[in-house]
Amino acid sequence: MIQTVNVSKIYKTGMIALDDINIQVQAGEFVFLTGASGAGKSTLIRLLFREELPSAGKIFIAGRNIDRLSSKQRLILRRNIGIIFQDFRLLEKSSVFNNVAFAMKALEKPWVEIKRRVPEVLEKMGLSGREKELVQHLSGGEQQRVAVARAVVNKPHIVFADEPTGDLDPQTSWGLMQVFKQINLEGTTVVMATHDKEIVNLMQNRVLVLDKGRLIKDEAKGGWAL
Ligand code: ADP
Repeated sequence: MIQTVNVSKIYKTGMIALDDINIQVQAGEFVFLTGASGAGKSTLIRLLFREELPSAGKIFIAGRNIDRLSSKQRLILRRNIGIIFQDFRLLEKSSVFNNVAFAMKALEKPWVEIKRRVPEVLEKMGLSGREKELVQHLSGGEQQRVAVARAVVNKPHIVFADEPTGDLDPQTSWGLMQVFKQINLEGTTVVMATHDKEIVNLMQNRVLVLDKGRLIKDEAKGGWAL
């Protein structure tokens, strides 16, 4: 479902952020992308989401080369992908409800459906009753859960998450990980960049390890393996 073929990314500065990456992720997998800071994790996520293009190589999602999509096909791709950024990228001055509803409005979903679906997802995230609160008044962990709710509200086939537990305490991180586990059990493919050793060890999922832009390990049921 996700495949990279000889993918490299060289930034204008000359930095080789990714060097000849070949990865295959099947539908329904939950894969961790690990490695030290600067290893290329965020770059790979940005390429998979087509926020940036590779300098060389090809990326296929659901059998399509994402470099070659028409604008309509690109829209369809984005509809089927949920993304959670390291810095949340929420509308801080807007309510919890509106932040999640925003993702559905972007797909022109009818209001009746939005009104039904948003509270359903917020409940899963433990945010029931918080709909009207402004995002800027929430804690970091709560904001992160809003970001996850927004990413999954349209029931995407794939979720990419870039360090979603970044600044969270261990207990909150673990709670969030249960949410991802559930999303994955419901059929969504999850690719998560993280440097959280404990979480990787506890989850026992497949682990891809990057080191200075190269894929140095691909463990089927790995713990932290640097
Ligand atoms: P990670 O997510 O593993 O910390 P990144 O993908 O953010 O790694 O970065 C990989 C390398 O590419 C780092 O050396 C980083 O400084 C560099 N890099 C990332 N983004 C850019 C950019 N936009 N321009 C130039 N260099 C970049």
